Amino acid sequence: MANWQIGEARISAIVEQTLGGLEALITKAKPEALAEIDWLAPNYVDDAGNMVGLVQCFVIETGGKLVVVDTCVGDNKDLPSNAEWNQQQFGLLEKFEAAGFDPDKVDLVLCTHLHLDHVGINTRLVDGVWQPTFKHARYLFARSEYEYWKAEAEREPVDPETLEKPFDKMRAAFHQTQIHAHEQSVEPVMAAGLAELVDPPCQPLPGIFLVPTPGHTPGHVSVAVGAGDAKALITGDSFHHPCQIARAEWATVADIDRDASTETRRTILDQLAGTDVLMLGTHFAEPNGGRIVEDGDSYRFDA
Ligand SMILES: [Zn+2]
Repeated sequence: MANWQIGEARISAIVEQTLGGLEALITKAKPEALAEIDWLAPNYVDDAGNMVGLVQCFVIETGGKLVVVDTCVGDNKDLPSNAEWNQQQFGLLEKFEAAGFDPDKVDLVLCTHLHLDHVGINTRLVDGVWQPTFKHARYLFARSEYEYWKAEAEREPVDPETLEKPFDKMRAAFHQTQIHAHEQSVEPVMAAGLAELVDPPCQPLPGIFLVPTPGHTPGHVSVAVGAGDAKALITGDSFHHPCQIARAEWATVADIDRDASTETRRTILDQLAGTDVLMLGTHFAEPNGGRIVEDGDSYRFDA
């Protein structure tokens, strides 16, 4: 388990699973284009030229508080449009406990956004009912993010089979999946009264900040940890893969507003470049913590 000490905060990464399909997500990252970014191999692009990534959560211990950032895909989730994640047993909660963390002692759950792979163990299935996993925690959702996905969950799904274009089919299937994820992993937390809607930027705890980083989703946030010289930034899905550090304009097909996501990546890179701020990429393969350094007219990840 990778971990980092940021001032008085300790951050640990707990991996749920490897993430495939990055080639389909970042369509501009063709093998020959990736090969031009020589520092990606061997950690982020394997010997066969494939992009590698992870689904993971970060746990922050600071000031006697326990914070979980992004809760991955989760177990037993009914996600019929997503075969890889439908009704699976990834055992993230067991890994969380094996790492020495007690779900009942979690104070705060933060979701960078409400996509299905960031809300999973928000809930667990108990006697056929979805219940909050972290019973004594406050769960913070950005208001604009929650309202967007609530409206999406209420929008009538379209059968992907009735659509012509592959991109439209993909979007319709993803919409169906998100409806399920919202109903299983977000609304039960609201119903239990554990969720709080917030308007970032905000500071939910001393040394923990939610920073708006929109584009991938409307209310996407990154989580800044620490103060002064000791700082880290958990970037959520504003970056999916380190190749986007070198090529900020390589938006993903899952970015709802690709211009905004590109602008967000540029802003983060400009702000972090040459500083000691540790960037933690939520879907990055290990080593997933590093600093941003200038590299010609672009940037590179110094892990
Ligand atoms: Zn994601």
